[in-house]
Amino acid sequence: MSRAFLLQPNKTSNNNNNEQILDVCIIGAGFSGMYQLHKLRSSNVQNVKVIEAGSGVGGTWYWNRYPGCRCDVPSVEYSYSFNEELQQDWTWTEMMAPQPEIEKYANHVADRFKLRDGIDFNTKVMKVEYNEQEKIWYTYTDTNKTYKSKFVITCVGCLSNPNLPDIYHQSAANFKGTTIHTGRWPKKNPDFSGKKVCIIGTGSSGIQTLPEVANGKLGKCEVTVMQRTPQYTLPANNHPLSKEYVNNTKKNYDRIRKFERESAAGISLVDYLGGSIYSPDVQLPLPPIEDNIMDLNEDERLALLDKYGFEVIRKFADVRVSEKANKIVQDLFAKQVKRVVKDPVTAEALTPKDYPLGCKRQVIDTNFFEAFNLPNVKLVDLTKGKISAITANGVETEQGTFDFDVIIFAVGFDAMTGPLTSLNIHGKNGQTISGNWEKEGPKTYLGLQMVGFPNLFTVTGPGSPSVLSNMMVSIEQHVDWISQTIVDMKGKETIEPTVEAQEKWVKHVNDVTQGSMLVNPSCNSWYLGANIPGKPRIFMPYLGGVGAYREICNEVRKEGYKGFQIS
Ligand code: NAP
Repeated sequence: MSRAFLLQPNKTSNNNNNEQILDVCIIGAGFSGMYQLHKLRSSNVQNVKVIEAGSGVGGTWYWNRYPGCRCDVPSVEYSYSFNEELQQDWTWTEMMAPQPEIEKYANHVADRFKLRDGIDFNTKVMKVEYNEQEKIWYTYTDTNKTYKSKFVITCVGCLSNPNLPDIYHQSAANFKGTTIHTGRWPKKNPDFSGKKVCIIGTGSSGIQTLPEVANGKLGKCEVTVMQRTPQYTLPANNHPLSKEYVNNTKKNYDRIRKFERESAAGISLVDYLGGSIYSPDVQLPLPPIEDNIMDLNEDERLALLDKYGFEVIRKFADVRVSEKANKIVQDLFAKQVKRVVKDPVTAEALTPKDYPLGCKRQVIDTNFFEAFNLPNVKLVDLTKGKISAITANGVETEQGTFDFDVIIFAVGFDAMTGPLTSLNIHGKNGQTISGNWEKEGPKTYLGLQMVGFPNLFTVTGPGSPSVLSNMMVSIEQHVDWISQTIVDMKGKETIEPTVEAQEKWVKHVNDVTQGSMLVNPSCNSWYLGANIPGKPRIFMPYLGGVGAYREICNEVRKEGYKGFQIS
């Protein structure tokens, strides 16, 4: 075994076959972990290992393989930009690629950049512990192997820790049929032929799953959707990509990527619904996003709804800042649901009522509302009586019992903090991330590091733009920043934020959300931790935009890692 490149000599021993000494231990082989490994290797930091619980690469695209699963950002942008040959060679087939195509892309990247020998698959992290005397992180795993490293980089994503409510545990324990969580869908699709299938949850996962299951993708079946909160879901407008579009994209990648990096959400195609900035074949005849719905009278609004259907909803700027404007589009949305869904009781139940549009992560769909017109699809409105138990035969609710053969839990994730707290990370003086964040929510400096956890970095951690952006853009920016920092740490021991810098950043993250629909008191989103009972209600990602955030991170480095203490 080669001696670690960055570790101080004589600080660790390697007298145990179950121990591996590393410069950097990376946790997770999704898109962030794969690029992190590649970037460090190409920065001449070679003694690096990735630990991955799954048997393959892809992270979220490895675990989420439910029918209908696809990305919600145009694939030409939801892809790596770090290698020109890669983006020229790879051709996406659809505007928003389905999971199998994204997983194939992840595998292509792993092979192309020879990453597999740097990844220990089927290895789950049980505990990550800092030894203050040695200044070394110990990462313990379920394979009995321990990794000792100067640095740890968590590349665990933001939505990788499935939410497992009590009813999920009851189902796993009591239910005679099949229990599946969308975030842990089996590699071999189950056969639903002739079965009674229940889908619990109407977030992105449930909304993508329903039309495919209802249309018999896994066999002809009866489907019952159990809905607690209706969604403002909008059409995805997914479609196959023409050769011309693909060629235009490839020709313009320099411009597109530059635009992404300087933008708010990491997407240059924000314009694509109103006419792409570079491709003529993605044009919908919509009013520009600068328009204000308050400037139109009722007849004008209805005329637009007649013409554009749901599309009209997302095209008005004032909707995001004015509750009055928001209420107007809520009414338009309700009208459109009633036009699409034939049964009036079902349409009413599917209409959101108690929270503003745009306060949750926007869900997009392909024929979600239309699926309720199929004879094999039923809705159970849980506002009329909630689920009380999962029994051997199905679901017991306050409005009656329902027998099923399959229960699909599309109930989401313990977002942003869950993937980190579940790693069981112990820092200086025995403090833990879960303990530190339990009452007041996550505290980080730039979403990159935490006080008390020296040399531990979090790619797309809470307090960074992460889930409010095209994740690929945020991942690349974080990985590049962290990799350069590790190179700059040669000959130095530890890097850790100051308490002052962390507190200032936490305050700033909080300040920039003020006035936004995202923190509206009526909104219960996973951005706020509101989907997990007992989780503190804190808006976790950074709303300042990826362009501005990148500048802040660059400035911090330019000013000698301002806000960090380096020893
Ligand atoms: P989610 O948005 O949190 O939705 C979970 C659903 O389950 C909600 O309808 C929720 O109801 C319901 N639910 C939770 N616990 C329940 C319980 N005990 N009883 C009844 N219903 C319950 O989760 P998700 O759909 O997995 O999506 C999470 C995020 O993952 C998305 O916002 C998106 O960022 C990402 N995602 C992306 C894609 C994509 O890019 N295409 C696809 C899937 C997921 P309440 O609303 O009442 O809590």
